[in-house]
Amino acid sequence: MTMPTIKNVTVLGTGVLGSQIAFQAAFHGYSVTAYDISDEIIEKAKERFAKLAEIYKSDRVPGAADGKAEEALKNLRLSSDLGDAVTDADLVIEAVPENLEIKRDTYTKLSTLAPEKTIFATNSSTLLPSDIKDFTGRPDRFIALHYANNVWRQNTAEIMGTSDTDPDVFAAVVEFAKGSGLVPIELKKEKAGYVLNSLLVPLLNAAAGLLVGGYADVETVDKTWRIATGAPLGPFQIFDIIGLTTPYNISIASGTPEGAAFAAYLKENYIDKGKLGTATGEGFYSYR
Ligand code: NAD
Repeated sequence: MTMPTIKNVTVLGTGVLGSQIAFQAAFHGYSVTAYDISDEIIEKAKERFAKLAEIYKSDRVPGAADGKAEEALKNLRLSSDLGDAVTDADLVIEAVPENLEIKRDTYTKLSTLAPEKTIFATNSSTLLPSDIKDFTGRPDRFIALHYANNVWRQNTAEIMGTSDTDPDVFAAVVEFAKGSGLVPIELKKEKAGYVLNSLLVPLLNAAAGLLVGGYADVETVDKTWRIATGAPLGPFQIFDIIGLTTPYNISIASGTPEGAAFAAYLKENYIDKGKLGTATGEGFYSYR
């Protein structure tokens, strides 16, 4: 097989990540269809896209203020009919809720609705593509393509196949990532957490352990990391950017005593007081 060409892209789900993925691809000239489950949600998606056009301009994404943001809106088609949305798709990027049943159900439908040529990519953060591949009907054309939130700025694209993924499909997705303004991060084999979270989660957990165990305060932990490694931000500054609800939920789900202790600490000192991180102006630090 030669490397497939990707021109038409369909994004499933127009939530936080799906809307950004669709807009970023449209901004870089791909012909994009965004799918969601109802006309009501599609109406909300229009607002999300208009907002993203403004954010690209205010964040000074090159070209955004010179008409590229409006061009992107023109490259975007919306649909609430799955068959219609994927009818001529070279690549489908799936950003539906992080729930195995919803993902499997989505791929079962897609497997019959999408043309044979279509490559499927999941943006899942925590599921492995191997958990899903048997539902795609085309494991050789299935891969994980993982974006970071705020894709126009934090523009990594972690790319991870299963042992069934065709190398030409992998190469085509790498090219698509480059073509849509992203930095491809290629994994040689499957790993929960990809590269980024394999590094970041242990760091954040260690910081939480130092704080909750009473070993060091927030400022001391961050100062140590910044000065001794030259990193611009310490772990608690990173927590504030992520938003404290996500670590709270992950800590509870971990089922460990350390996780429970950190979740209780976050709830009492921050979440119950509405301090959720940079988004609310205050978290471990104040940004007012
Ligand atoms: P979200 O809840 O904001 O959006 C999900 C969207 O999917 C909604 O618009 C919803 O209407 C739609 N949806 C629900 N059921 C559907 C179905 N059956 N078919 C199609 N669409 C359906 O979620 P999100 O934060 O955008 O996350 C989506 C995916 O992206 C998840 O797999 C998540 O792990 C991943 N991800 C999220 C982030 C993040 O920071 N939020 C970062 C990287 C990856």
